[in-house]
Amino acid sequence: MDLSRRGFIKLTGATLATSSLGALGFGSCGEAVAENVRPFKLTHAKETRNTCTYCSVACGILIYTLGDGAKNARSDIIHIEGDPDHPVNRGTLCPKGSALLDIVHAPTRLQVPKYRKPGGTEFEEVSWDWALDRIARLMKDDRDKNFIAKNAEGTTVNRWISTGMLAASASSTETSYLTWKVARSFGMLVFDNQARV
Ligand code: SF4
Repeated sequence: MDLSRRGFIKLTGATLATSSLGALGFGSCGEAVAENVRPFKLTHAKETRNTCTYCSVACGILIYTLGDGAKNARSDIIHIEGDPDHPVNRGTLCPKGSALLDIVHAPTRLQVPKYRKPGGTEFEEVSWDWALDRIARLMKDDRDKNFIAKNAEGTTVNRWISTGMLAASASSTETSYLTWKVARSFGMLVFDNQARV
């Protein structure tokens, strides 16, 4: 039987409760309890591992979603808790992390990129494709204009210091590695992480 750590704890807990009642002479009572145990509320939820978005500790979280994944069906996140198998937090979350469900459902949460034209006063919604193309265009133009291949002594330095990047602290190790490689491969020196904010 393929049994996860979480499933093992649930199974042994239920078995222990039933057998303890039996040992105390409440045999039929134990069966009745077992039959009437309320189904675990997350039984039918989809479990997704992720990282807390709030700070550089980067605690592991489990996100539970209801929805069958059918086309046009909207899934809903119903519960978030600490990941007991994550080496950073071992299932614990601080008060901010414990309130992650609120940030997910907050009506003020920004979910689309917004753009304010030069000289404009209002932000307007734009598509991700448009935003990424725009960022790539501006980066390319600036790099072409300001890239420093050699310093005053003629030594190769390959620096690009007129544009910087601020990365997210809640990235996985793999994402952080790739982000670092991309920034450095551009020659970008101005690179920092939200963990220091
Ligand atoms: S749960 Fe708390 S300590 Fe952990 S990453 Fe989130 S904000 Fe930081």
